[in-house]
Amino acid sequence: MGKRAYNFNAGPAALPLEVLERAQAEFTEFQGTGMSIMEMSHRGAVYESVHNEAQERLLKLLGNPSGYKTLFLQGGASTQFAMIPMNLLTAGKTAGYVKTGSWASKAIKEAKLIGEAYTAASTESDKFTRMPSQGEIEVREDAAYVHITSNETIEGTQFAEYPDTGSVPLIADLSSDIFCRPLNIEQFGMIYAGAQKNLGPSGVTVVVAREELLSAEAENIPTVFRYSTHLSNNSLYNTPPSFSIYMVNQTLRWIEEQGGLEGIQAKNEAKAKLLYDAIDGSGGFYRGVAQKGSRSIMNVTFRLGSEELEKAFAKESEQQGFVGLKGHRSVGGLRASIYNAVPRASVEALVDFMGDFMKRNG
Ligand code: PMP
Repeated sequence: MGKRAYNFNAGPAALPLEVLERAQAEFTEFQGTGMSIMEMSHRGAVYESVHNEAQERLLKLLGNPSGYKTLFLQGGASTQFAMIPMNLLTAGKTAGYVKTGSWASKAIKEAKLIGEAYTAASTESDKFTRMPSQGEIEVREDAAYVHITSNETIEGTQFAEYPDTGSVPLIADLSSDIFCRPLNIEQFGMIYAGAQKNLGPSGVTVVVAREELLSAEAENIPTVFRYSTHLSNNSLYNTPPSFSIYMVNQTLRWIEEQGGLEGIQAKNEAKAKLLYDAIDGSGGFYRGVAQKGSRSIMNVTFRLGSEELEKAFAKESEQQGFVGLKGHRSVGGLRASIYNAVPRASVEALVDFMGDFMKRNG
């Protein structure tokens, strides 16, 4: 096999090599069935056992909380931006949105198309370089829920601690940091995440929520957009993205093998520290974008002294086998996405490259 790239893509992103190899081993024939998992009916016992196993592993990593159910949906997190208000932002209610960056802004925009969404807090005046504190978040009495973005993938900020919204359900977009660390699901009414960063390939969106939120009556919206449809059909109302779900199951198994969420967290924090130390120790040659208390351990965003230098960094890093370090086109700068599956060795190689680049350009 050829050398694997130093993959810092923001998503779809690096997957564990072990997961890819296991998938490869059973790619053309799954468990003696004479076909791949992609070729079989989603109504058959073989596929269904994979489907159910993935759900069980998800809930197990969350400590098997009572009253929570998990769904596998399609359309990405972007579809959840619409489905959440369609199902939950009913007439006479409001919904609070914490505006922390690019993704949160998209979620608010969609909710406003559906109902009475308000900005519960915003860090826009700080150029989205930080997450708000508990005291900054307005929780209205008539709020059906408050929505946060756990990790802003583009800006590189992450909640260190989640806000307490009392009896109002907290809903979180965990697309870019799900299972990067232990998660107390009881703090949330609902979480959701596109799989393509920490959970597997693109094509499936995971939702975990309190059953009462998923069973809410929503008869005025099309059947396929109702959570209750997918809940009552075990996410098999229509054809699910079976291969993606199979890959999620494999990735969850890999997380278990890493020592579960505690094990993953220790590795992630160590990787993030390597990078932030390199930035902070560069005497200002590299500058972190996010404020220190809000730094993401998944997406490390940084800048150099000029856009010219940033361009040179992006170009030279690419030549040396580093992929995906250019910041999002909307904000510029540089970004290293160091999701669960990015090996420590890739981060070490990047730190070496950063030191070398600084020596030549500092
Ligand atoms: N929310 C966050 C935090 C994201 O990072 C992304 C994708 N990068 C999305 C939502 C949108 O996800 P999707 O492309 O799966 O719709």
